[in-house]
Amino acid sequence: VSQRAPHPGPLVPFDERDSVFARTRLRPGSPEYDAYYDAHPGNRASDDRTRALPPLASPGTRRYRAAEGALVEAMFDASDLVAAAVEAASAPAVPDGLGSPDEAPRERTTAQPAPEALTRFAREASLFLGADDVGITSLDPAFVYTHRGRPLSRFGDPVDLAHRFAVVLVFPMCQALVSTSPLMSSTAETARVYQQAAATCFGLARAFERLGVPARAHVDSNYLVVCPPLAEAAGLGEVGRNGILVHRTLGPGVRLGAVTVDAELIPDGARDFGIAAFCRVCGKCAANCPAAAIPAGDPEPVRGALKWPLVAERCYHFWRTQGTDCGVCVRTCPFAKPDTPLHRLVRRVVRSTAVMNRMLLRADDLIYGAAPPPSPSPFTGFETEEDP
Ligand code: SF4
Ligand code: SF4
Repeated sequence: VSQRAPHPGPLVPFDERDSVFARTRLRPGSPEYDAYYDAHPGNRASDDRTRALPPLASPGTRRYRAAEGALVEAMFDASDLVAAAVEAASAPAVPDGLGSPDEAPRERTTAQPAPEALTRFAREASLFLGADDVGITSLDPAFVYTHRGRPLSRFGDPVDLAHRFAVVLVFPMCQALVSTSPLMSSTAETARVYQQAAATCFGLARAFERLGVPARAHVDSNYLVVCPPLAEAAGLGEVGRNGILVHRTLGPGVRLGAVTVDAELIPDGARDFGIAAFCRVCGKCAANCPAAAIPAGDPEPVRGALKWPLVAERCYHFWRTQGTDCGVCVRTCPFAKPDTPLHRLVRRVVRSTAVMNRMLLRADDLIYGAAPPPSPSPFTGFETEEDP
């Protein structure tokens, strides 16, 4: 018996320009800034307040520590290089991608492999290249952005992605570092896993192309698709109250990447893990969110989907005060537990019935605390006078 309430539908795609991550990058006085806020005057004041704060991982933010901040910056630099390579590989002027100019053009497969073979390849290659889990779904156009918001140079470009399927890849974060949220050490881990996801997705897309399959990697700061609902559609978990994917075994402490392909694959299909049903009685992330950004009530229709509407402006403003990506809603989630036999048993119970959910939540509060504090950062690094 499904525990999930159906989406009221029809699903409506999202414009990435409305993402707080994208629009707060707009520079006051630029034509894009004026055009966006003329069309959305209600967003201007709160975005200007956030824009006035120092960037993430920079001096002047509450959780800044020089050594960990350097790691964050370095990992995001690496991700940005991959994001730029994704952009270059997607350009029509470079159909053969990014080979060395000295290299002779390589032979390419022209006939696409059969769907069964290509699906096997997608799974094996994803795991081989570094993902921990992988799922496949047909690409619902509702999960493709209407317009781009990032990078800033592409702000407002319409998205035209005619791919038929998406391979969604899951990358786990180290739990010891997640448990330090909202400290800078947890953001270093976020950044490390994002750059790992970017490199893997880029490699997988290039491998597809070498097999004659048009493909595109979707990586941090360069997505054309929305990953959490795609991951849900691919049977990898469910989107929780905290607005992110709660993975079926790894919980919310994961990062996602995706590769879309213009080829036929065999999809996995969404599954009911009892996670959203558990969220209805839980609310631990909402109670612990320092920005009051997560709603405490029932899910509601948002662009045709039944979900908890996160107040992204509050969340991201808090990030900018801290200089980190917070992550308290990840750390405090009852599903953020190691994959031990006991936790596997609990997940099996949650999947099969909602009857025990309140009791399991009470047990989680008793054992781990209703408002558990962060663990100290394990990084010894070095300290500067600016460090707290
Ligand atoms: S990341 Fe932090 S501020 Fe944002 S929703 Fe989660 S707990 Fe709240
Ligand atoms: S903390 Fe509770 S309500 Fe929030 S995502 Fe996790 S299970 Fe759902």
